[in-house]
Amino acid sequence: MQAIGVPTVPAEAERWNAREPRSARIRVALLVHQMRARCCGGLTDRGAARDATTRYAADVRYPDRGILPHTSGMTRLLARSAARIGTASALIVLIGIAQAGCAGPWQSPPVVQAVVETQPVASTGDAADDPAIWVNETDPAASLIIGADKRRGLEVYRLDGTLRQSLPDGRLNNVDVRDGFVLEQRSLAIVAASDRDHDSIALYAITPGSLQLANVADGVLKTGLTKIYGLCMYADRARGRHYVFVNDKDGRYQQHELEARPGGRVGARLVREFRLERRPEGCAADDELGWLYVGEEATGVYRLPAAADSAATLEVVDRTGKGHLEADVEGIAIFRRRDGRGYIVVSSQGDDAYAVYERAPPNRYLGRFRIGDGRVDGVSGTDGVDVTSAALAPPFEEGLLVVQDGRNTRPGARQDFKLVPWREVRRALSLPD
Ligand code: CA
Ligand code: CA
Ligand code: CA
Ligand code: CA
Ligand code: CA
Repeated sequence: MQAIGVPTVPAEAERWNAREPRSARIRVALLVHQMRARCCGGLTDRGAARDATTRYAADVRYPDRGILPHTSGMTRLLARSAARIGTASALIVLIGIAQAGCAGPWQSPPVVQAVVETQPVASTGDAADDPAIWVNETDPAASLIIGADKRRGLEVYRLDGTLRQSLPDGRLNNVDVRDGFVLEQRSLAIVAASDRDHDSIALYAITPGSLQLANVADGVLKTGLTKIYGLCMYADRARGRHYVFVNDKDGRYQQHELEARPGGRVGARLVREFRLERRPEGCAADDELGWLYVGEEATGVYRLPAAADSAATLEVVDRTGKGHLEADVEGIAIFRRRDGRGYIVVSSQGDDAYAVYERAPPNRYLGRFRIGDGRVDGVSGTDGVDVTSAALAPPFEEGLLVVQDGRNTRPGARQDFKLVPWREVRRALSLPD
């Protein structure tokens, strides 16, 4: 842990303070936030620290959003101290805490490292969004990572991160995959993506042999939503049915059943609708245990039955604020063991971390981690995530976590996806095998 003092506070905070003088309380809070980001956050990526500063400055600027919404209890305490004992004294306390190695409430989550990054997506800016892992049962080393470039389409990568196929099919935002869909007497893997150009569901089959994604949608599968956003798939194995969940930025959720149609096409039939109060995006279905996990970007993660004929009664898994998540709540993924055990991984985008829960309800919280610099650059601002427990090629023998990286550095480039061996996560959080 690097001990830091006042001079290492990023210039952005200094400039912001100089430009817009505020009370000692806010000035100290800003500095504290910088300390937290730089010292305790595991943010080895300077860009991520800069993003944190910008976000924080915006929050302080607009007090109607709640003063200091991103700060910990310790920050608020220090800010209050500053108001009473003065900025200089509070800073001395602050530096002491920073140099003590960020103990207590600032304790940093463990940091793991990615070992592979994919080729950057084709679009510039905030473009990479959501990955899906397709496990090739017959040749695990030839498994695929399907990544959404939300400005352009889908990109398909090998496990070494090289590009295998590019599908410039439009603004596809979220993507997921399920195998075992029967089409013309063949059992195929189906890839689904939320298409923001047409508010529709894009569907592909992974062609056996060539392992190419081929469009199998029966025309443009319109949803009737007006701002389609998140998407995840669900295979009800007992009934042999495949579903796609999609949501709208206004909170609407739809469940569509996939159906084989003549000519080797696949259609989608709306079978259930419900609504969240706030903007959703990330979701993940647990095929074996029958749950759907949904995120509201601002408030948390919730669980409800995935079956099409069940009531949409939400149970809280975890919340932003007092929980273990910091808005936005983004990607959700399930590490599935055969016996029903496993874990749920959630991207806590607001503080560049991931929270892990037990797979089985009540989804007990197990810990958090970050992805720092290693062989490839660390990860910040993650949107989508996916994870598998399948034994893939080394070093992914215990499974693979794939995450979107909001800032691709070393060298600076367009956004990409990072691959983390699950073994790293298991060790960092001391999870049982
Ligand atoms: Ca993003
Ligand atoms: Ca996904
Ligand atoms: Ca989002
Ligand atoms: Ca990065
Ligand atoms: Ca990089």
